[in-house]
Amino acid sequence: MKLGELRVEQVVIVGGGTAGWLTACTLAKNLVSTRPGAIRVCVIESPDIPTIGVGEGTWPTMRRTLENIGLDETEFIRECNATFKQGSQFIDWKQNADDAQPHTYYNLFSSIYNPADFNLAPYWVLGHAGRDVSYANAVSAQGVACDRGLAPKKITTRGYDAVQSYAYHLDAGKFAALLKRHAVDKLGVHFVPANVTQVNCDHDGFITDVDTEEQGKVSGQLFVDCTGFRSLLLGDTMRIPFNDVNDVLLTDTAMAAQIPYLSKDADIACVTKATAQAAGWIWDIGLQNRRGVGHVFSSAHISDDQAEQQLRAYCGDLSGELSVRKIKMRVGYREKFWHKNCVAIGLSAAFVEPLEASAIFLVEAAGNMLSDLFPRSRGAMAHTEKKFNKSFRFRWDKTIDFIKLHYYLSSRQEPFWRDNKQSETVPNSLLDKLDAWSRHPVSKYDFSDTNEPFPHESYQYILHGMGFEQSLQSSASTFAQVEQAKMSFANVAKATEHVCRDLPSHRSLIDKVCQYG
Ligand code: FAD
Repeated sequence: MKLGELRVEQVVIVGGGTAGWLTACTLAKNLVSTRPGAIRVCVIESPDIPTIGVGEGTWPTMRRTLENIGLDETEFIRECNATFKQGSQFIDWKQNADDAQPHTYYNLFSSIYNPADFNLAPYWVLGHAGRDVSYANAVSAQGVACDRGLAPKKITTRGYDAVQSYAYHLDAGKFAALLKRHAVDKLGVHFVPANVTQVNCDHDGFITDVDTEEQGKVSGQLFVDCTGFRSLLLGDTMRIPFNDVNDVLLTDTAMAAQIPYLSKDADIACVTKATAQAAGWIWDIGLQNRRGVGHVFSSAHISDDQAEQQLRAYCGDLSGELSVRKIKMRVGYREKFWHKNCVAIGLSAAFVEPLEASAIFLVEAAGNMLSDLFPRSRGAMAHTEKKFNKSFRFRWDKTIDFIKLHYYLSSRQEPFWRDNKQSETVPNSLLDKLDAWSRHPVSKYDFSDTNEPFPHESYQYILHGMGFEQSLQSSASTFAQVEQAKMSFANVAKATEHVCRDLPSHRSLIDKVCQYG
C-alpha cells in the first residue's frame, strides 16, 4: 500500500486540558458517533503535569458547542460552578481614573438590531439617539440589564435558548473534568493516563507513535497536540517556529487569584469586568461560589511585586486571603498550526492575552474545522493542512488587531499605554481600518471573510464605547433614514424597559438552576 493511502483509524490527542477534552468531545461526536468503529479517538493525559487552570470566560458559541456534544446545560452549570456571561465591561480604559466617576463601556453579546440589516451606528454618531445615551444603550437592552444584575433568560427559557445572547463564566478545572467524563462515558473516547516521553516519526517526518512512561507505545495516524505552552509535538518535535507578537501586544505575565464572596447570596456580575491598570488590566469574573481575578501586565513596565500589590489593592478588604499565582504567558502563534499529520490546538498552537476571552473560542473553531475537513487518509492531509493553516493564521492576526484596538484608542498616559500607541507596535492592518473608519462608519463590508473572529458589531462597541472620533458631519446627508433610525432607538428603549421588567436577577436564576434545574 502506498503511504498516501494509509487510512486514519486512530486520532491521538496528547494533553487533557480544556483544549484536549473539548477537541476529543467534538471529534467523537462528529466523527465517531455517526460512524461507530470507523475512527477511534484517544486522549493521553499526564497524571503529573497540571493544566493551566485558568480560562474562565467563553463566547456564546459555547452554547452550540455544548449542545452539539450532548451536554445538558443544567448539568454543565451545576458541575462547573458556571454563571451567565453577557459581554465585557471595560473600566478606566479611556483615561486614568482621576475623576470620581470612572469611564466604563460595554462590549455586549446582544443588540436589538442587526447592524448588517440597518446600521444604526452612524445615526448614533450624528446624535440622533440623544446626547446622553451611550452607544451600547442606544442599540441594545443588555447593558442596562447587566447594570441591574439581570440574567439573560428565564427559568422557563428552553435549553440553550436565550432572551439576550449569552456565554458562560466557568471553573476551568471543573470544566475539563466534566468534558473528560462526558468524552469517556458517553462518547466512547479512549483515555490513556500517561506521560508522553518521546514522539517518534517515520522517514517522511510523519508522527507514527508516542512512547509513554506508563502505557508503552500509543500509535495513530493523526496526532493533535494539546500539551499547552509545552507544544511537545508541533513545537519540540516538528520544530515549527514560534512567531512572538510581544512587540504588538505588550503584556506577557499574569497574576491570578480566587476570592470568596462576602455572603452566599451576593450578586453575581453579568459580565467580565476588565479594569485598566498602570501597565495592564485586571480581570474579574463571577462564578457561583467565588470570583476569579487576575492581573495581566507587561513585565517590561512593572515588577512582579508591583503587579501583585495592584491586584491586592483592587481586591481591597479581601486581599488578605489572596493566594496569588504567577503565570508567564508566551504571546504569539506557531508559523504553522498543522504540519504533516500533526495539528496543534489550544495553548500549544497560539496564545494572546485573555482580554476578549478568545482562546477557548478558537479551540472550538479548530475542533469544528478539523471535524468538518477531517482527512480520511494521509494523502488527504496536505489539503486540510493548507486550509487549516490559512484559516487560523487569519483568525489569530485578526484577534491580535482587535485586542490591540482596545489599547490604541486609550488616552492613558502611563509609559505602558504610551508605548502601546507607538506606531511600530501597531499592525498596519489596524491602522488602515482606523484611517477608513475616521471618515466612514464601520460596516459589514469591512468584514467579508467567513473566518472573521470578531464581527463589525464588536468593533462598533469598542470604537464607540471609547469615543473614537468619526467625522461624518460632512457626509451627514448620506445618512438619510433619520426617521427610521429614531424609531429604532425608541424601540430599543421600549425593549429595554420590557427586558428589565421580565428577567430575573442573575443570582436568583443560577440558584434556581442549581436547586431545581
Ligand atoms: P493546558 O491547560 O496547559 O493543558 C495541557 C495538557 O497537556 C495537560 O493536561 C497536561 O497534563 C498535558 N501534557 C503536557 N505535557 C504532557 C506530556 N508530556 N504527556 C502527557 N500529557 C501532557 N481562554 C479563554 O477562552 N478565556 C479566558 O478567560 C482565558 N483566560 C486566560 C487567562 C490566562 C492568564 C491564561 C494564561 C490563559 C487564559 N485563557 C483563556 C486560555 C485558556 O486557559 C486556554 O486556552 C485553555 O485552558 C486551553 O489550555 P490547553 O488545554 O491548551 O493547555
